[in-house]
Amino acid sequence: MRPSILFPLFAETRTLPGVGPKVEKLIARVAGTKLIDLVFDLPVGVVDRSYRPKLANAEPGRIATVTVNVLRHAPSRDKKRPYRVQCSDDTALLDLVFFHGHADYLNKTLPVGTKRIVSGRIEQFRDQLQMAHPDFIVEPERADEIPQHEAVYALTEDLAAKSLTKAIRAALEKLPDLPEWQDAAFRKQRDWVPFREAILEAHAPKGEADLSTATPVRSRLAYDELLANQLALMLIRARMRATKGRALKGTGELKAKAIAALPFALTEAQTSALAEIEKDMAGPLRMLRLLQGDVGAGKTVVAFLALLSAVEAGTQGAFMAPTEILARQHMSALEPLAKAAGVRMALLTGRERGLGRYDTLNALAQGEIDIFVGTHALFSEDVTFRDLGLAVVDEQHRFGVHQRMQLQGKNDKPTDVLVMTATPIPRTLALTAYGDMDVSRLLGRPPGRKPVETRVISAERMDEVTEHLRRAIASGARAYWVCPLVEESEKIDLAAAEERASMLKRVLGSKVGLVHGRMKGPERDAAMADFKAGKTQILVATTVIEVGVDVPEATIMVIEHAERFGLAQLHQLRGRVGRGEAKSSCLLLYHGKLGETAKARLKTMRETDDGFVIAEEDLRLRGPGEFLGVKQSGMPEFHLADIAVHGELLQAARDDAGLILARDPELKTSRGEALRVLLYLFGRDEAIRYLRTG
Ligand code: ADP
Ligand code: MG
Repeated sequence: MRPSILFPLFAETRTLPGVGPKVEKLIARVAGTKLIDLVFDLPVGVVDRSYRPKLANAEPGRIATVTVNVLRHAPSRDKKRPYRVQCSDDTALLDLVFFHGHADYLNKTLPVGTKRIVSGRIEQFRDQLQMAHPDFIVEPERADEIPQHEAVYALTEDLAAKSLTKAIRAALEKLPDLPEWQDAAFRKQRDWVPFREAILEAHAPKGEADLSTATPVRSRLAYDELLANQLALMLIRARMRATKGRALKGTGELKAKAIAALPFALTEAQTSALAEIEKDMAGPLRMLRLLQGDVGAGKTVVAFLALLSAVEAGTQGAFMAPTEILARQHMSALEPLAKAAGVRMALLTGRERGLGRYDTLNALAQGEIDIFVGTHALFSEDVTFRDLGLAVVDEQHRFGVHQRMQLQGKNDKPTDVLVMTATPIPRTLALTAYGDMDVSRLLGRPPGRKPVETRVISAERMDEVTEHLRRAIASGARAYWVCPLVEESEKIDLAAAEERASMLKRVLGSKVGLVHGRMKGPERDAAMADFKAGKTQILVATTVIEVGVDVPEATIMVIEHAERFGLAQLHQLRGRVGRGEAKSSCLLLYHGKLGETAKARLKTMRETDDGFVIAEEDLRLRGPGEFLGVKQSGMPEFHLADIAVHGELLQAARDDAGLILARDPELKTSRGEALRVLLYLFGRDEAIRYLRTG
C-alpha cells in the first residue's frame, strides 16, 4: 500500500482549483494526470521580471515591470486595429495594446484614473512606447503577485501558461515534507538540500543557470529518481535470485538434428553466445540474460537452439515476439527446424480464438507442446504451461519488467529468461532498463552480408527516387517504403501512406502493397505474404511494427521523413535489406530543411553500419528521451534525471542500491521505510511487491 503521506500527491489534477475537464486533458498531455506529475514537471525557462525602470529609461525589447497611471481608453474602431489603453508614469507615456480587446474586461482591469503595475515586453512603435498584452496587470497593493523570476513550463497547444503555472503552484502546495531516504553522509558530502526544498527550488529558477540539469538541486532530484530506478530493478533481481533456479541441461540430441537441418553453418559468435546461455541454464541459479545483437546478427536461431536445450532437459520453451507478424514469422521460419528435431511447436497470438485456442492451451498445459511461439497473449491469465523451462523474449524493449515477472509466475517451477534485443543499447541506458542483467553479445553478422549503400535525399527529388525504383523494379527488385507514424494523428499518417501507395501504383504500375497498424491481422498477413512471394514488389508501411520481417529478396529501403525517426529505428529498418546476395540500398528522404542535429544524425547513418556506434551517437545528439524514437520503447522514462548528463549519478545510485539491499534487504530500518516512500513516489509500486515481506 502506498504510504498515506503520499496520498495528496497521487490525487488527480482535476481536484485542483481551476482545473476543469478541458484543462485536465491538456495538462495530461504535458505532464500527467496526477499532482505528482505536476510536481515533476520542471520548468524549461525563466523570465526575469526584476527589471523595473522608469519609462523614460526603459529599453525597448526588454521585459519590464512598470508602475503606471491609466489615462484613457481608446477602443478600436475596426477589428483590425487594436484597443489601446494610454498610461504614463511621471517620465513618459506607455500604450497598452490589446488585439481583439474586450472593452468590459479592460475597463474593469484598467479603470481610468487608477494606478496599476504591468509587466511585459516593452516595445518602441514609431516614437511611442508600448506593451502588447501585458503578462501581468495588478493593483499596487498586490505587487507581490508578479514574480521577480517567473518559471516557464513546456506547453501544448491551447494550454495557457497561466493555467499550467497555477496548477503547478497548487500541486506544490500539497507537497509534504518527506522522510529523508538518502544517506546522511552522502547528502552532506554533495551539499544537497532535502527533497521538498529541492523540488521547490527547481520550480523557482532565478536565471538560466538554475535550469541546468547539473545544479546541485537538479542533481539531487535526478539522483532520487535514479536511486528509485536502481533499487526497483535490484529488488526484482534479488527476488529472482532468491527463487531457487534449477539446472536445465540438454543432451544435445535435438539440437544436433536442428543444426544439421540449417541451410548454413553457425558463426563463431553464435556458437559462443549459445554456449554462454547454455552454461547459465545448466547452472543452479535462475537465468536472466540479455542477448544483444545487431539487426540481422542471427539471434533467432541462437534462441531456438537454447529452447531445444530446454526441451531436451524435459521442459517446455516459450518464444515471445512483440508483434503478431513477428510471431508468425518466427513460427514459419522455425517450423522446419522443429520438424527436423522432432519437437512440437504451436502458435498463439491475440488472433487465435475459440476452439483452436482452447485446444492449443490444453495441449500446452498437458505438455503436448514443446515450444510455444506467441505475442504478449502469452501473458494472459488462461495460459498455463506444464513446465516452462525457458522463456525467450524477443525485442524485449517493448515488454516491461513487470510483464517479465508475470511470465515467471506462470508455473511454480523457476523459468529461465533470455531477453533478446536488436536495439543497441548504450551501457548507461542498459543499466537503467535492466539493472545488472547478464549480457551476451552477438557481434558481427553472418557471412555473405553486403553493406547497404545509404543515401540522404531531399523529398523534393521524389522524381529521381521513383525513377530509381522503376529501374530496380523492372529488373525484379523488391522495395520497402516506410512512412513514419506520428502518434497524435494516426489517421493522417494512414492517409499519407495510402496516398503514397497509390502514387507509387500510378507511377510504377500495380505491384504495390500496403501494411499498416490498423489493418486486421489476416489482411496484414496477406499483404506481407504477397510481398514475400513477390506478388507485390513494393511494400508501403505506415508504422515500424513490422521491423522484424525477414524478406531476403528485398534490396531497397526507402524511408520518408527519415529526420523524424530515431537512429536506432533507422538502423533497424535499414537492417531489413542487405540480407540476400544482391547489393542493397537505403534511401533516407527528408522533408523541408534539415537542422544541424538532423544533418549530423543522418550523416551518421550514411557513414556507419555499426549499431553500437549509431546508438552512442544518437544518445549524444538527441539525449535519451528521444533516443529510441518510440515512446512505448519500455525504456524507463525519467522525469528528473537526464542519462546523458547524470551518468555518474547513475553509477552511484547503483552502488548505493546495492549497499542498501545488502544491509537492509527488506527495507525495514528507518531509512528503509523512507526508501519505500521513494519507490512509491516514483511509481515503482511493483518493485515493493517483490520485497519479501511485501
Ligand atoms: P536478428 O538477430 O535480427 O533476429 P535473424 O535471426 O532474423 O536476425 O537472422 C537474420 C537472417 O540471417 C535470417 O534470414 C537467418 O536465417 C540468417 N542467418 C542466421 N544465422 C546465419 C548464419 N550463421 N549464416 C547465414 N545466415 C544466417
Ligand atoms: Mg529478430
